[in-house]
Amino acid sequence: MSARILVVDDVIPNVKILEAKLSVEYYDVVTAYDGPDALEIALEQQPDLILLDVMMPQMDGFEVCRRLKADLRTAHIPVIMVTALSEAADRVQGLESGADDFLTKPVDDLALFARVKSLLRLKMMMDEFRLREETSSELGVISMSDRKEEAIQRARILVIDDNEFSVRLMKEIYAETYDVTLEPDMQEAQVLLCGGDYDLAVISLDSATHDPLRLCSRIRSSDETRHLPILTLVDESDKDKLLRGMDIGINDYVMRPIDTNELIVRTRTQILRKQYQDRLRENFHRSMELAVTDSLTGLYNRRYMSNHLNAMLQRAKMDYKPVCLMIMDIDFFKPVNDTHGHDVGDDVIKEFSARIGMSIRGIDLACRYGGEEFVVVMPDTDLSMASTVAERLRRQMADKPFVVSNNKLELELTCSIGVTVSQEQEEAESLLKRADEALYKAKRDGRNRVVVAPCPVTAFAKTSGVAAR
Ligand code: GH3
Ligand code: MG
Ligand code: MG
Repeated sequence: MSARILVVDDVIPNVKILEAKLSVEYYDVVTAYDGPDALEIALEQQPDLILLDVMMPQMDGFEVCRRLKADLRTAHIPVIMVTALSEAADRVQGLESGADDFLTKPVDDLALFARVKSLLRLKMMMDEFRLREETSSELGVISMSDRKEEAIQRARILVIDDNEFSVRLMKEIYAETYDVTLEPDMQEAQVLLCGGDYDLAVISLDSATHDPLRLCSRIRSSDETRHLPILTLVDESDKDKLLRGMDIGINDYVMRPIDTNELIVRTRTQILRKQYQDRLRENFHRSMELAVTDSLTGLYNRRYMSNHLNAMLQRAKMDYKPVCLMIMDIDFFKPVNDTHGHDVGDDVIKEFSARIGMSIRGIDLACRYGGEEFVVVMPDTDLSMASTVAERLRRQMADKPFVVSNNKLELELTCSIGVTVSQEQEEAESLLKRADEALYKAKRDGRNRVVVAPCPVTAFAKTSGVAAR
């Protein structure tokens, strides 16, 4: 992960030490030696993270942090306060000024990289989220009102710890803000995690009876839980375990004795990232769906069908199975609009689509090809079968009047259909063209009919030996 980190400290050797450590890990480091400089560089260079010394002449770190967070152009950059004093009061003040995390001098490597990685991951997630939201609203895929529905719900935490004293403390810290479950037994915890929809697992690395690292590793490798953040509680003497945990993929840690503020900050960072990640994934699925379907009918849109048809033809070629395609067009639809209005026209299109949906198989692909024109692609189907389906669809439309406009109006409507079957080595474009010609003939011959396109001699179905159903 190459990220740009701004290191701010008035003592030159301090800056140099951090710069050296971070550069070894391939981070791109920029430096500043006082508050005003730091503000200017943050604005101009937009770093991904800021390591900010607290004690500086002129403007101290708290003030710098407050200003960074008050400016919309820098508010999204995570800030880690680096303090010489490990006083709790200092940390509280840091958090109040808007800092995202803190480190104590002398800076321990393990802590430095754990915090840096954790906050960079969160920032990446948030950046991606902001970008997608922008694109989505530009495209009109996700509207502002959709976003409001996504109010962040109360996060769920599972604490896995068999130390009674520690468990009681965790409960006290978490109960007000989170929905917290306490589970001393690792096996039970695993069961809970699989079905539980948690936002964070807090796991104690010192257990008298189990191997907590095994649990961490299971969480990471199981499909259901691999996105679940893991925050571990570690004894000062257990650094080896912690290092192995980092390799397995735990996200962060808090040293015992637990500092309440520290635990709160680390918990918040992990949960925020998880929730951003979940929302990104959800939005992605939703925009996918919206991008490929037609909003009036819920059928696939033309763009999707064109792409997908080529893939279906590819597969058909390998399986030696023909693909059939029909284009249908409502007869004399324009007069419906002209006589009854556009809304009634829309109702007809919806009802027409619903009737198509009811008459085709799950593997068939129905799409709205244009205004009142529809395409159905039928994989693994020969021409005689497709003609039967087309004829059935034609009757579905002609035999039963369209009841529209809140049951106030009944309209007799028909449609014309052109059908064809794929040839070997055929592209979507020529298949569609042949079906369209058949449709045109159906219109010319008097409408309300199915016309099968004349097949070139080397019909796929004949040469491949697929029997007619
Ligand atoms: P034909 O039998 O030859 O198909 O005649 P037609 O009147 O159905 O065909 P034409 O292509 O002349 O008219 C199609 C009409 O469909 C014109 C257009 O305004 C209307 N239309 C296209 N999209 C929509 C839509 O989304 N809603 C409504 N209500 N009308 C639409
Ligand atoms: Mg028409
Ligand atoms: Mg038309």
